[in-house]
Amino acid sequence: MKYISTRDNNLEFSFEEVFLKGLADDGGLFIPVNIQPFSKEELDRFKKLDYTDLATEIIHPFLGSFITKESLKSLINKSYSTFREKEVVKLRKVGDLEILELFHGPTLAFKDVAMQFIGNLYEHYLEKNNSEINIVVATSGDTGAAAIDAIKNKKNLNIFVLHPNNKISSVQRQIMTTGPAKNVFNIAIEGNFDDCQNIVKSMFADLQFSKSINMSGVNSINWARIIAQAVYYFYSYFKINSSDKISFSVPTGNFGDVYAGYLAKKMGLPIDKLIVATNTNDILHRAISKGDYIAKKVSETISPSMDIQIASNFERLIYDISDKDSETTKEIMNKIKVNKYKINEKDLIKINKDFVSECINEEETLSTIKKIYNEYNLVIDPHTAIGVGALRKLNIKSRSIVLATAHPCKFPIAIEKAINKIETLPDELNYILNEKEHYEILDNNVDKIKNYVKEKIS
Ligand SMILES: *Cc1c(COP(=O)(O)O)cnc(C)c1O
Repeated sequence: MKYISTRDNNLEFSFEEVFLKGLADDGGLFIPVNIQPFSKEELDRFKKLDYTDLATEIIHPFLGSFITKESLKSLINKSYSTFREKEVVKLRKVGDLEILELFHGPTLAFKDVAMQFIGNLYEHYLEKNNSEINIVVATSGDTGAAAIDAIKNKKNLNIFVLHPNNKISSVQRQIMTTGPAKNVFNIAIEGNFDDCQNIVKSMFADLQFSKSINMSGVNSINWARIIAQAVYYFYSYFKINSSDKISFSVPTGNFGDVYAGYLAKKMGLPIDKLIVATNTNDILHRAISKGDYIAKKVSETISPSMDIQIASNFERLIYDISDKDSETTKEIMNKIKVNKYKINEKDLIKINKDFVSECINEEETLSTIKKIYNEYNLVIDPHTAIGVGALRKLNIKSRSIVLATAHPCKFPIAIEKAINKIETLPDELNYILNEKEHYEILDNNVDKIKNYVKEKIS
């Protein structure tokens, strides 16, 4: 499969380039030139497959000559052998709800599903290519932990993770910073998540620096993450075993996970609506419900992994609704940069064919956690509660699955506030509470971070 950049569809790229670079040099996002939907016969055959075999079938067409199907299959098996749930993901029916639990990986959030796979993709690449790669990533809590777990102790790979000092939950920080791996470096930045993200972006933009350290990125725009996430849409659809279209409610921040659902639909999965569920950082809800794409100041919520106003993956949808025209996409992205984009009516109609949206505020999040606990004796995390809350507020005709994106024990303070109950860690992770943490607190200064990285890898 060949790829182009959303901002220049004249140049073609291989999967290898797309995977290692993450972002195109022109600032655009990589996207396949053409997506061939699976036939009805193929989908029927997929129904009977277990998760890892299904993942192999879904992912392989995107990888081209990067890896053989046999090697991919064993790579995927290895990736998901670290999950506590044998089935990898778990569809749970509780009353009127169907909840797809995606948090059974090593760091308790759905980010593990893509990250464990990506870690092994790097390893596969490095077995054939004699080089050393340095991954630099910013995190608001979950991405960093998942990336570290996937990369730790791998040969010829180092990972540097920037998190905002004192702005993530203690459990989130402890999962990242405990553990003695020599190739993992945690940095707490004196600033907020946007500052961390800006430091990483300017490190990438300094081509002399980024090339000199062979820098690579694993944030949610990386295409390899999207394709790994598309798999559970197929898997849960087949589990439901319905001949009708179904909908998915997706707690959304960077538009990565829900875009994976859109990709699944393009690949032929009979999806009705994708529900974009946001917290009070509601730019995507305002955009999808009325075309208002004006970013406001980020506010801190009890669903911190979705405290975001610049949903990077939305550019891929913009490219599609602009009839795959790079020039139009570029114009729109320039408007977004100066916060002046409004979605016109024609484009909004196209978007609403596939996407609807809802915003759930703090009070509604807490009351949803409480309601689900009282009704079904089930504890859901604040992000998942936003997915449930959005589905209940909207009038969706089709059968719907809510994606459960994190384990509730990652957000004990919010859970206690909602239902006055302490959520404890799974036994395998209990050790992090007494382990020594490894991280350095550094100024919000890109040159200092560059020096730190250079020093560590020399
Ligand atoms: C990252 C994250 C999200 C948002 O996912 P996007 O792909 O950024 O939309 C939702 N819930 C949790 C728990 C997360 O870690």
